[in-house]
Amino acid sequence: MRFATIAFAVAALGAQAAPVNNPLLQKGLPIPFDQIRAEHVEPAITYLLEEARQRRDAFVPSPGPRTYENTMAAFEKILEDLQRGMTIVRHLEGVASTPALRAAVNAVLPKYTEFVSGLPLDRGVYGKIKEYSQTEEAKALTGARKRFLEVTLDEFRRAGAELADKEQARLREINVEMSRLRKQFADNVLDATNEFDLVITDERKLAGLPESAKAAARESARQKGLEGWRFTLQQPSYTAVMTYLDDPAIRERMFRAYNTRAAAANLPVMKRILELRRERARILGFKNYADLVTADRMAKNGERVREFLRMLEERTREFYEKENAELLEFRRSLEGPNAPPPAMWDLAYYAEKLRKARYDFDDEVLRPYFPIQAVYQGMFELASRLYGIRIQKVAGVPAWDPAVEYYAVRDEDGTLLGGFYTDFYPRENKRAGAWSSGLITGGPVDGKFEPHLGGIHGNMTPPVDGKPALLTKREVETVFHEFGHQLHHILARSPVKGLTGVAWDFVELPSQIMENWTWERESLDLLARHYQTGERIPEELFQKMLRARNFRAANAQMRQLALGVVDIALHVDYDEARDGDLYAYARKIFQRFTPAPVPDDYAMIASFSHIFSGGYACGYYSYKWAEVLDADAFTRFQKEGIFNRATGMAFRREILEKGNTEDANVLFRNFMGRDPDPEALFRRSGLVKR
Ligand SMILES: [Zn+2]
Repeated sequence: MRFATIAFAVAALGAQAAPVNNPLLQKGLPIPFDQIRAEHVEPAITYLLEEARQRRDAFVPSPGPRTYENTMAAFEKILEDLQRGMTIVRHLEGVASTPALRAAVNAVLPKYTEFVSGLPLDRGVYGKIKEYSQTEEAKALTGARKRFLEVTLDEFRRAGAELADKEQARLREINVEMSRLRKQFADNVLDATNEFDLVITDERKLAGLPESAKAAARESARQKGLEGWRFTLQQPSYTAVMTYLDDPAIRERMFRAYNTRAAAANLPVMKRILELRRERARILGFKNYADLVTADRMAKNGERVREFLRMLEERTREFYEKENAELLEFRRSLEGPNAPPPAMWDLAYYAEKLRKARYDFDDEVLRPYFPIQAVYQGMFELASRLYGIRIQKVAGVPAWDPAVEYYAVRDEDGTLLGGFYTDFYPRENKRAGAWSSGLITGGPVDGKFEPHLGGIHGNMTPPVDGKPALLTKREVETVFHEFGHQLHHILARSPVKGLTGVAWDFVELPSQIMENWTWERESLDLLARHYQTGERIPEELFQKMLRARNFRAANAQMRQLALGVVDIALHVDYDEARDGDLYAYARKIFQRFTPAPVPDDYAMIASFSHIFSGGYACGYYSYKWAEVLDADAFTRFQKEGIFNRATGMAFRREILEKGNTEDANVLFRNFMGRDPDPEALFRRSGLVKR
């Protein structure tokens, strides 16, 4: 099979020979992840780039009348194989990074970016698409094809297709430099995260920590050949210390290390990124970068984003102040009337104590009910009831790590819709956080269905001491969240593959809505099983969990708003000549949303990967925006039944399958019958007067 594909490619390309036996070039499924090595990257990507270049060159002068097939369909094909190869490489860099792989990616990335971001600036390519758009055939297009043409023209314009040569040349330079800077930012964060560890050998200093965190720290030390307990800035380790460890000096040390990560290395990187983004917006004729990136999103412009954030801040502030007064009062009830207000590294710690006192509940008691396999099974059962799909584990599929599993997704009639990997344990060669990946985009083709391929990834509590991996409630929500993204990927059935990139402020709706099912008794019963006794969560514990749900919800909301506001402010308002030091400027904004003094070395933005290396620049607001959407959309399930197949299928057909085949404002309206209403979010978060 492999030889046939390569032979065909060679024939089509004339003289250029494909590298022999390069697993990155192998088409079809499964992807041979167990064989792909760093040394395959450069030859494969170089070959695919050359192939894409030849496709582009063949695209431009093709003679005869312009048709959808020889224009739009041919345009889609230019990047198809190159992007497939690059997606796999970038994916491996996220889940199985090595210095050699990093170097290989860095070697090909500039050429790749230059080519891909150069396409909209290619007068030949743009000219042909524009010419097609003026034909009778194009004017008569409907549905996905019509949308694809519109979206493509719009994207070309916003990438600079209509600009003069000189400006286009400058944009090309900016694109290449940006891609290098974003990569550098991410590398600096990863290095700084791995650089730090804290090894404690005196067990008394661990007072307050739950057994699970102690066991994980012990295991981490053992793996490094060390005595004692090792703590790192990776999520489960860091969060456990900040939430539970009694010794404030250790918490402070971890907090400062965490929030000064890459502060020196990333300062010039951030400044340059912001500068280049400002310049890009100016060249393209937008008032600012926020207007440029939100133009094709639900919000449509930066001012609407500001209004949205302002509205939430105003509605949240009084609840936030009340929560802060309560926390101080609580600390004083424990430590006497002269106890100082909590510092930033005290907040999670006292909040957890208050939660325990008030609700007699802490996250740890739920862990035994959430062995990861039971969580998967319950989640798949839920998807089956709502969306009529079947999800089954498939053994023997090659992966990048032995802990990775693979699942196939079938429709009710047996059609294979796709497959996805699950990869939820931390490794040093893996990036932080949780995310969902779309590795291959399939869809309906000639009456058949080409399966999608993706993965869900995170850094959850791994199995320790011979026990299965036992998750916290929050980790369960994260697994559901990423699974929601994956459903959006795998259930998509756009007839045009180029229409799968969904508006950024809509993309968190399918993920966040899934989290709602982890709060309902009947759906929770599908997935929560005590790992030793098989029991469901006792009713009393469930009630406590519900009562504790909105504990300090206003603080959580203010934190998200802070990140959203900082994101817009850095991109739109910040002016070094007027505002001075970037960190000081950001600290001042954070202070407005933070109930404790923000320390002088606080440099959280230096690891704010979402906006500097990820795709969230001027888009962090999307999380809250989508929360408004998901809280609102879930009210329909609550009304009609949380397992209601008809409601589930409506969500599948109107939202999950649609991709970007329609404006997201319209998709939402099609499902709900009206525009989004923020009241559902305030109610769900308990931010309403009783
Ligand atoms: Zn998400």
